[in-house]
Amino acid sequence: MPQADRMVSGKTRTEDQVDNALRPRYLNEITGQNRVIENLRILIEAAKGRHEALDHVLFYGPPGLGKTTLAHVISNEMDVNIRITAGPSIERAGDLAAILTHLREGDILFIDEIHRLGRAVEEVLYPAMEDFALDIVIGKGPSAKNVRLNLPRFTVIGATTRLALLTAPLRTRFGAVYRLDFYDISAMEKIVERAATLLNVPIEPDGVMEIASRARGTPRVAQRLLKRVRDYAEVRADGVITADVAGQALDLLEIDPLGLDDIDRRVLLSIIEKFEGGPVGLDTIAASISEEADTIMDVYEPYLLQLGFIERTPRGRTATRLAYDHLGINDNRPPRQASLL
Ligand code: ADP
Repeated sequence: MPQADRMVSGKTRTEDQVDNALRPRYLNEITGQNRVIENLRILIEAAKGRHEALDHVLFYGPPGLGKTTLAHVISNEMDVNIRITAGPSIERAGDLAAILTHLREGDILFIDEIHRLGRAVEEVLYPAMEDFALDIVIGKGPSAKNVRLNLPRFTVIGATTRLALLTAPLRTRFGAVYRLDFYDISAMEKIVERAATLLNVPIEPDGVMEIASRARGTPRVAQRLLKRVRDYAEVRADGVITADVAGQALDLLEIDPLGLDDIDRRVLLSIIEKFEGGPVGLDTIAASISEEADTIMDVYEPYLLQLGFIERTPRGRTATRLAYDHLGINDNRPPRQASLL
């Protein structure tokens, strides 16, 4: 099954496109990520007080945690336009130049997957971010001339799932860098409750809890599970989401009480059964379960790390005792090896 079709993937699926109604629009509508929100409040208020464009902001973290949402929220709070683009869709330096020359004072340029910008495009972005200038060459051969165009002061908001893949010069051009973490259970409950209200879905508090606890700390997953559980409640029950109804629907989708799906389990089983608990390289795990290494790294691994089910070591990934326990497998590794975990 392609990655984007998996229920628990934080990546966008086609059905998610209609969810703009669920997106929080202002800072006070956002639940969770308290530290980031507090910092953003200060950043925004200070920039507004000085009547300046906001400093460039970079968000990083697993998919589905709200990077794009926050970019929109910032544009609403600053009351400026936002132009949305993504690293892979800016193919040539000229594409970026065209985007930059259409920006107005204070505008936001949101670049999703910014780690995937090409080198030549990055070279254009550096002076644009630092000096608000665009260096272009006019003409060809010996008569070619370098011309510097001034740009309005604008704000780049970058988003990435892989901070480590950003080049150092690009990273240093961001005045503010924020990591988004998985949401805790109480924030997830509020997010499910809010989505249910906006979608007019009748749900009991225990039903909220059941969905929130299986949504792997990710708002996008919570919204998706809510919709599938709503379908189940309408077809197999009386339309109201109770804890039982949610539990049955999610069991049917093979999402376990911790939010793990089939791929998570295959990752863990591969490490435990094929590689004796690890350490084993990510590429080897990926090949053994026919998934892409990038997908495992972006979508599955962060949550398994967060649960403490796997650990990264210099020699590869190891499954921890917690993972054995969760899967009901005896951890027969020598005590010395197990005690290292
Ligand atoms: P990312 O850009 O990190 O992949 P998005 O910003 O697209 O994630 O968020 C995914 C979905 O989750 C959006 O539909 C948004 O409505 C919802 N969402 C994200 N953060 C929150 C939040 N703090 N509260 C409520 N909903 C949220």
